[in-house]
Parts: sequence; structure tokens; C-alpha cells
Amino acid sequence: DRLIEPEVQGNEDVVDRAIRPKLLADYHGQPHVKQQMDIFIEAARSRSEALDHLLIFGPPGLGKTTLANIVANELDVSIKTTSGPVLEKAGDLAALLTNLEAHDVLFIDEIHRMSPHVEEILYPAMEDYQLDIMIGEGPAARSIKLDLPPFTLIGATTRAGSLTSPLRDRFGIVQRLEFYSVADLAAIVKRSADHLGLAVDEQGALEVAKRSRGTPRIANRLLRRVRDFAEVKGDGRVCIDIAAQALDMVDVDKSGFDYMDRKYLLAIIEKFMGGPVGLDNLAAAIGEEKETIEDVIEPYLIQQGFIQRTPRGRIVSDHAYAHFGLSKTTD
Ligand code: ADP
Repeated sequence: DRLIEPEVQGNEDVVDRAIRPKLLADYHGQPHVKQQMDIFIEAARSRSEALDHLLIFGPPGLGKTTLANIVANELDVSIKTTSGPVLEKAGDLAALLTNLEAHDVLFIDEIHRMSPHVEEILYPAMEDYQLDIMIGEGPAARSIKLDLPPFTLIGATTRAGSLTSPLRDRFGIVQRLEFYSVADLAAIVKRSADHLGLAVDEQGALEVAKRSRGTPRIANRLLRRVRDFAEVKGDGRVCIDIAAQALDMVDVDKSGFDYMDRKYLLAIIEKFMGGPVGLDNLAAAIGEEKETIEDVIEPYLIQQGFIQRTPRGRIVSDHAYAHFGLSKTTD
């Protein structure tokens, strides 16, 4: 597994539960999202209404699940969690919906991966708090309508473009999470270190933050590897040298890139003369799935200005050449 994979690995979720922020005030970064959600939550609370349905989108590991849980916590309601691919039958979703109490949150992760017949159940549920389902099959089949309590659906997706427009239109609030700044990630690293009982100085936290690809999940994971190193090779405390040595050892470089990013960038530089190169050719050249390239490798490289996606294909920037100490050949 890649150390900088932004998706959950192993038992990470269990480890993370302790350090996951529970209040909006402890949710670092994303100032616009926080400012707005603070007001929307306060308004829903003072009117004693369910919060409007909320769609959160952004790359993996940026805090969508964390935010959904914080919203429920701040509203003082229960949250039921599921995900698009898990909801196979309309009945699976109906069972969840009918078990909600008034104002509860239903959180559907990877909502873009829900099957169309499950999604259809969601439309009247979101719009009119009504469940419209077919019971039985063949001539005995009949449709029944059930009233649902007012509830809040929170959907999370890594790909806003993959949502159907009838579904997207039913969300009253849409929040987009951005990659975190190094300063925000350093604050997250320090907070997590406190929870782990680990001493990390300012420079040490910044070093971990710089190599975390703007992603809190990666920052927390790198911190745990740095802690191992500090305990075995140092005196248990994390300073810049320990952090840098530990992260060099696990092959996460100064830009937070690993072998996969380097392979990707070098392929464009060496095999395609810096681009433009189409996704199919690139995927074949580095032996990686197209979806992984688009969802996992590229977003951070684009945000950092290392590559550009153009209608003719991917192009690397001068930053990418500089990263490898190469100069652009124009022949
Ligand atoms: P996503 O659902 O977008 O994949 P998560 O909500 O699971 O991401 O976040 C991954 C981990 O990163 C969480 O366990 C949490 O500890 C941490 N995290 C995410 N966002 C923040 C934040 N804004 N402040 C502090 N920690 C965060």
C-alpha cells in the first residue's frame, strides 16, 4: 500500500476515532465551510428544524466524514452512516430511513456510487419526507407511501461531476472541501500529537505537514510513522531532523510525493516529452488504473501546479522538471 494513499488503510479508522475532531471549533482549516456551517446549524437549531440536506465534496481524506459527524454532534442528533455501494436494494435504504428520529442525520458516503433504483427512493424522501416503495412482486405488487420524520441527508462524494442532476439539485447546501494549507496541517499534526501523547516541536510538525499532500488523513498517518522512528532512533520527541529522516526513509519526498507520483511525472517527461498525453496512454505507460490516476494521483499535482489537464491531454509544468533537477529540452 502507498503510505500517501488518501483512502483509509487497515485499522486506521479505529486509531483515528480518538483523534477525530468532534466540534466545529476543532475542525481546522476550511474557513468558508466552517463559517457557513456554523450559521446554518445555529439557524436550524433555533428554528427547531432539520438542517437542509448537505452535499460535501472533495478528494478522499479531506474530512468529509468528520464534518458529517460534527454537524450531527453540533445539532445534537444521531447520525446513521452508510455508503452508496453498500445500499444494494431499495429496501436497504428504506430500512435506514424508517429508523430515523426527527432531525436525525443520514450520512451516505460515496453517494455517487448508489444504484439508480436506490437513488429514486431518495428523491421523495429528500423532497417531501415521503417513502414510496413497492412491496411484493408480479400481480400482487403494490406501492405504499410512508411519512418519514424530517431528517437531514448528508452525502459525501469525491466526484461532484458523477452525481445525477436530480440528486444534486435536492441538496440545499453544497460544500466543497479544499486541500489544506501547510499551516492548517501543522495545527492538525500538533493536535493529533497531543492526543497520542507525543512531543512534536513547531518545525517537526511543519515538516510532516509539508509532506502530507494537503490531506489530514495522510498527515495523521505520516505522524504515526514519524513517531515510530522517533521512539526507536531518537528520544521519542519529534523535531525537524527526526521527521525528515523518518519520511525520507519511507520514501515520501519533500513535496509529499512517493514512487507513484514520480513514476507518473517522469513518464510524462521522459516518454511523452512533457505532454500533452491522453489518460489512456498514460495509464498504459505506468500500469495504473485510469480512475486511480484521476482521483488519487492527479488532484494534488494539479493543485500544486505540477501538471495541467488540457483538452489535448496532460502537460507537466516547469515545477515538475525542477523537482527532478531536469531542464526542458525543446527539440
Ligand atoms: P474523508 O471522509 O473526506 O475521506 P475523513 O473525514 O475520514 O475524510 O478524515 C480523515 C481523517 O483526517 C479523520 O480521521 C480526521 O482525524 C482527520 N481530519 C479531517 N479533517 C480534519 C480537520 N479539518 N481538522 C482536523 N482533523 C481532520
